[in-house]
Amino acid sequence: MLPATLHDLSFSQLQSRLAEDGVRKAHAGTLFRALHQELRTELSGLLPPLQRWIEAQPEPALEVPRLCFETPSSDGVTRKFLLGLRDGQEIESVLMGYAGRYTACLSTQAGCAMGCVFCATGQMGFVRHLSAAEIVAQALHVERYTRSVLQDRVRNIVLMGMGEPLHNFDAVMHALDIITDTRGLNIGPARISISTVGHVPGIIRLAEHPRRYHLAVSLHAATDEERSALIPANRRWPLAELLDACREYTARKQQRVFIAWTLIAGQNDSPEHARKLAALLQGMGVQVNLIPLNPTEGYAAGPPRPEVVDAFQTILQESGLPVTVRQRRGIDVGAGCGQLRSSRSVQAEASVLSP
Ligand code: SAH
Ligand code: SF4
Repeated sequence: MLPATLHDLSFSQLQSRLAEDGVRKAHAGTLFRALHQELRTELSGLLPPLQRWIEAQPEPALEVPRLCFETPSSDGVTRKFLLGLRDGQEIESVLMGYAGRYTACLSTQAGCAMGCVFCATGQMGFVRHLSAAEIVAQALHVERYTRSVLQDRVRNIVLMGMGEPLHNFDAVMHALDIITDTRGLNIGPARISISTVGHVPGIIRLAEHPRRYHLAVSLHAATDEERSALIPANRRWPLAELLDACREYTARKQQRVFIAWTLIAGQNDSPEHARKLAALLQGMGVQVNLIPLNPTEGYAAGPPRPEVVDAFQTILQESGLPVTVRQRRGIDVGAGCGQLRSSRSVQAEASVLSP
C-alpha cells in the first residue's frame, strides 16, 4: 500500500487531522473545497497556518495521477483516460455521454482477480486494490476535463472500469463518501452505480450499508454450468446464492437491481437463453441491460448480429421484464473495460521488440 495523501481523507477526517496538529478545524472547509470543488492539483496561496500544515505533510501530499494517454472516440461521446499511478500502474477512467448527463466510469482495482474470460481486465489478472484517493482522483480528473473542455459537469458515476468494486469494499465505500460529500464533488448516491460480478458477501454488506447506491449485477448466463465457464467466480458464489443476495438488496433498499447481460455470439444469445433468463428473473423486479460483447484479444468471440440482439430483447420484453440495449461506445478506441491498457502494453512491447 502506498502512503496515504490528503485525497484519502473525508471531510471529518481532515478536521480531526488538523485539530490533532493544533490547526483550527475551520480550515478543513477551505482545504476540502480546494481539493474537491476547485479541483486543485497543487496547493499554494492558502492562509499561512493551513499552508504550513500542508507543507509539513509527507510527500506527495496530493494524489494526482499522470495522464498517460487520452482517446476521444470517433463517435465524439466517449473519452478515455489512461492514468498513471505512483507505482507505475496504469488504470482507465472513461467519460461517457452528452451535455447535461455526463457519466464518469471509474476503476477500483489494477487488474482483477475474478478472471472473466471475455474481459480484458480479467485476462490481465489481479495486480492490486486501488486506494480511496486513487478512486477519488479519477473522478476529479474526469470532472476537471468536463469543466475545462466541455464547460459542463459530471452528473453520474459508474464503477464499471477495471476491477471488482466489492472485492475492494472498504476503499470503494470510503471513496464514495468523499465523492458524495456536498462540500466536494457532491454527486449523490442516487447518481452512483456499483457494478459487481456477483460478489455475494459484498452485496450483503452493501445491502446493510446506510447509503443507497444503485447495484448492477453482471449475470451473463442463467445456469451455473454456463456461468462458471464465463465467470470463474460463479463457482464460489453460485446463481442461487447470488439471486438471494439480489432479493435481499431489493428488500432492504426498496430499490430495483440492474442485471447486465453481455451478449456473446453463439454463447448466450439464443431465444432459449432469453427464455431461461426470463424464467430465472421472474418476480424479482429487476431491470435488464443487454450489452453486445466488445471483442478482446484474449477471447475468440464477437457480439451477435443486431437482429439476434433484437430477438433476445423482444423475448425478455414479452415476459414483462424492463430491458434496454446498451451499445458500448468507443469500440474503435478499445474502450471496453481494460482494453486500452492491454492494447497500450501490446504497443509498448511491439515498440521494444522492433529494431
Ligand atoms: N467487475 C465489475 C465491474 C467492472 S466490469 C463487473 O464485472 O460487473 C463492467 C461491465 O463490463 C461488466 O458487466 C462486465 O461483464 C462488462 N464487460 C467486461 N468485458 C466486456 C467486454 N469485452 N464486452 C462487453 N462487456 C464487458
Ligand atoms: Fe473483473 Fe468485472 Fe472484468 Fe470480470 S468483468 S474480470 S469481475 S472487471
